[in-house]
Amino acid sequence: MQKLPQHAEEEEADKDVASKKDFDCPLCSANNPYDDGIKVGDEIRCYYCGAEFRAELTQENRWRFREI
Ligand SMILES: [Zn+2]
Repeated sequence: MQKLPQHAEEEEADKDVASKKDFDCPLCSANNPYDDGIKVGDEIRCYYCGAEFRAELTQENRWRFREI
């Protein structure tokens, strides 16, 4: 299990991996809160750089955001 040094408090240890309340942009590293929750297959957008991603969950239950 790898942990990122930032924002790694409890969200990754949480059992609730099916939805997520925020994401870190892979491009600009900005943290984007998502009050509605992010689910697998959702299209999400970074509010800072405007890039769009599709949320995916790997076999290791880790979130990945693929640029659209
Ligand atoms: Zn961004």
